[in-house]
Amino acid sequence: MSVSTAAADQSLCTPLPVLGRDVTVPLVTGGEVTYAALDYAASAPALQRVWDDVAAYAPYYGSVHRGAGYLSQLSTDLFENSRVTVAEFLGCREDDQVIFTRSTTDSLNLLAAVLPADCQVFVFETEHHASLLPWRDARVTYLNAPRTHEEAVQTLERALADRDPHGPALVCVTGASNVTGELWPVRELAAAAHAHGARIVLDAAQLAPHHPVDIQDLDVDWVAFSGHKLYAPFGSGVLAGRADWLQGAEPYLAGGGASRKVARRADGGVDVEWHDSAARHEAGSPNVIGVYSIASACKALTEAGFDSLVAREEYLIGKVREGLAAVPEVKVLSLFGDDAPRVGVLSFVVEGWNSSHFAAALSAEYGIGVRDGLFCAHPLVRTLLGSDPQTQGECGAPEAAPGEKSLNAIRVSFGAGT
Ligand code: PLP
Repeated sequence: MSVSTAAADQSLCTPLPVLGRDVTVPLVTGGEVTYAALDYAASAPALQRVWDDVAAYAPYYGSVHRGAGYLSQLSTDLFENSRVTVAEFLGCREDDQVIFTRSTTDSLNLLAAVLPADCQVFVFETEHHASLLPWRDARVTYLNAPRTHEEAVQTLERALADRDPHGPALVCVTGASNVTGELWPVRELAAAAHAHGARIVLDAAQLAPHHPVDIQDLDVDWVAFSGHKLYAPFGSGVLAGRADWLQGAEPYLAGGGASRKVARRADGGVDVEWHDSAARHEAGSPNVIGVYSIASACKALTEAGFDSLVAREEYLIGKVREGLAAVPEVKVLSLFGDDAPRVGVLSFVVEGWNSSHFAAALSAEYGIGVRDGLFCAHPLVRTLLGSDPQTQGECGAPEAAPGEKSLNAIRVSFGAGT
């Protein structure tokens, strides 16, 4: 890959300002160094713009949907306008709903909780655990790891063709892998799902911070993502998409805000009428700062323009690939091959090195923050490392004995602030 031309350098946008750029950290050798945050895939720093917006709002903080006072009204408007901003960011259809959650994990568990009866779920074994595990109460088909985009689509098509065609079905797929950074053929998978009468939810946790995610362009039924990976680390996430399954089910959480009317019955019980808006699944006092920060990040990314953000990230990932290629002991992990398009996320192993020790040394000796382990995608990492899929072990724990294959890996990831 040849990327380091002066022309490429000049055409690139500057990174977006983020918090923490000047933070210094101690080195084991003594002294200090400016921290190099290369773990955006786990959690990205706040954009300065997000922080400024949150700080400007904070003195006006008030309860949402729960107060007649001026600050409550203002906070409620801010909360509801954030919903509109997120809907625009995702290119939602007119009747889609945007539900604010805690995170991608929360969003996918919410969708799992509202699946219609007898829903069949199809999910690749390569998914992050947040997309792999929430469906276990449904009839789940785990699909084998594909090695090309075409194979991914064919594998899904075959599985869907074999399904009971009368019942509801859901496909869950990630947009960009949190391990390899590789993009998945979302449009093609969505077309395959719909051709077989299934619906599809996109786990955009790693895609949304790097690429535009347009629900209509990709033709997916739902999108889930987390604020803290989208440069808005204040505790909120999003599930956006089709309203019917969401409104046809009991609320994810029961409580105030989700209920329109509650009354005692003559027999001593309680009758409840639930809202049929997004509020149905947003019981309890909402996290207005988290939600507002997501809207602020959506605006900042849209204004910066994904074209230039993507160009810059491709340049950076090329530089990382070049550097790693110069070290013969390094093996970069890839499901779809070296030339597969990817976001700014990349994992590798270093022959003869314990990945956890390697990552710890990058921090202690150079002030570089990366992640080591199995990245909450155990089956995928084991496939990539060619280790036994049944190998037991916890995130970050297993390590190979000298001379054996690595059992975990090192991940470098970056984004708009790098
Ligand atoms: N999906 C993917 C692809 C992820 O990378 C992650 C987090 O790393 C998640 C889902 C879960 O996100 P969260 O921890 O914010 O719920």
